[in-house]
Amino acid sequence: MKEKPRVFPAPVRLEYRASAGRGLSRFLASLMEGRIVGQRCPLCAKVYVPSRGACPSCGVALGGDVAVSDTGTLVSFCIVNIPLADRSLPLPYVYGSVLLDGADIPFPHLLQGLPVEEVRMGLRVRAEWVPGGERTPSLESIRCFRPTGEPDAPFEDYQEHL
Ligand SMILES: [Zn+2]
Repeated sequence: MKEKPRVFPAPVRLEYRASAGRGLSRFLASLMEGRIVGQRCPLCAKVYVPSRGACPSCGVALGGDVAVSDTGTLVSFCIVNIPLADRSLPLPYVYGSVLLDGADIPFPHLLQGLPVEEVRMGLRVRAEWVPGGERTPSLESIRCFRPTGEPDAPFEDYQEHL
C-alpha cells in the first residue's frame, strides 16, 4: 500500500504595514541621525529602547526621550546555523541582545567581528553605523555590533537585564 503524504510544500507570506506610534517614530528618526533614543518610565525609571509607548511593569505611559549610547554589553546570543531567506550572511553568525549603556532593556541585533566560538555574555560591543546618507528609519541603519576591545562586563553589571 502506498504511504499517504504527510508533508507538502505550502509557501506562506504575510505582508503588513504597522503604525510606529510617537515614541517608536522618534526612535526610528534618531537612527537616521546616527544616535539612539529611548524613553524612561516615570515610575520605575527604566529606559526602554526602542520605546514601547508604555511601561509593561507599571502600566503607565513612558516619559520623555532619553539618549543612550551606541555602545553596550552583549547579554545573550544565539549562533545561527540555518540560512534565512532575507539574509545572505555566511553561516554561522551571531544574533544577540545588546544592553546599550544607559538602557534597561536589551536591544536585538547582529554581532560581527569575532569568531562565533569566541562570542560570550558580557562582551562589550559598539554599533557599526551605515554611512549618514544611506540611513533609513529602521534598524538597518545599524549594520551590526562589533567588539570594542574593552574588558568584558562583569555578570553583576547586567544580570538584572537578561
Ligand atoms: Zn515602569
